[in-house]
Amino acid sequence: MAKVAFIGLGNMGGPMAINLAKAGHQVTAFDLSASALAQVKAEGVASAGSAIAAVTDAEFVISMLPAGKHVIGLYLGEQGLANHIAKTALVIDCSTIDAASARKVGAGLAEHGIAFIDAPVSGGVGGAKAGTLTFITGGAAADFERAKTVLSNMGKNLFHAGDIGAGQVAKICNNMLLSILMAGTSEALQMGIDNGLDPKVLSDIMLKSSGRNWTLELYNPCPDVMENVPSSNGYQGGFLVDLMAKDLGLALEASLQSNSSTPMGSLARSLYVTHQRAGHGKLDFSSIFKMFEKKS
Ligand code: NAD
Repeated sequence: MAKVAFIGLGNMGGPMAINLAKAGHQVTAFDLSASALAQVKAEGVASAGSAIAAVTDAEFVISMLPAGKHVIGLYLGEQGLANHIAKTALVIDCSTIDAASARKVGAGLAEHGIAFIDAPVSGGVGGAKAGTLTFITGGAAADFERAKTVLSNMGKNLFHAGDIGAGQVAKICNNMLLSILMAGTSEALQMGIDNGLDPKVLSDIMLKSSGRNWTLELYNPCPDVMENVPSSNGYQGGFLVDLMAKDLGLALEASLQSNSSTPMGSLARSLYVTHQRAGHGKLDFSSIFKMFEKKS
């Protein structure tokens, strides 16, 4: 079992740190929020007074923070952890951030002789609690193998996408496609409803036809077509519109940097940001269906 430092105990990081402690790792955590630290303490996660204190002697340093600026601020610069992490440690950043920031952190840590992989996740808060997350990593193959010691206690599917930053690129490609599928499925279902079809019948037809996709199979956006999905529960729970809008912003930035043509992704971002600005940021992302709905 390993000595692990965990930085960032939010909706995702809290349950991930708890799963590591339950698996027998010696976990010491730090968060800027005292209440986040207090919540995991009862579950066997020790709290440190600072990020520096948490990483002292750690074999693995894991971070789960909101955005690239937080990750860069944590590791680099005069106050950065790069000056305090053991050279034998592996740093694993699980936050969803832009690939350029991940590469910057990797290069900054490498200057101190410290290994790094980016390892964003898919699976949401439910997956974090259940320990069934998908990790999509970027970095050296040997570091990916080393990371399995801890990643396997927090997730079920572990992928190696390529060099540092590749995990972030793969994650935003997936989420961009997901947003396009969700918006397209919503639009098709509503057109069927507007033309007199029962959305359940239409969903069954499309599931056995060439329009079949993940959203129809597991996450139908139309209320009451499927049980136990956010659309049938007032769009509560699941993956927030706020987070999808953030990921689509990262996708747009990446496409600008690589000069890629992403007309569908750009349109999906506009739809999601408009939906977010209309006050739906805290709803599940399948609530994009509401944008197409005919208001009575
Ligand atoms: P969150 O806002 O709930 O948690 C972030 C935590 O980081 C907070 O507790 C905050 O206090 C802490 N923090 C910020 N800066 C810090 C610092 N310098 N030192 C220590 N602690 C610091 O966010 P979340 O929902 O847990 O998401 C974390 C990351 O995971 C994000 O990048 C998000 O995009 C990604 N993600 C989230 C989900 C989801 O469903 N919530 C799914 C997949 C990926």
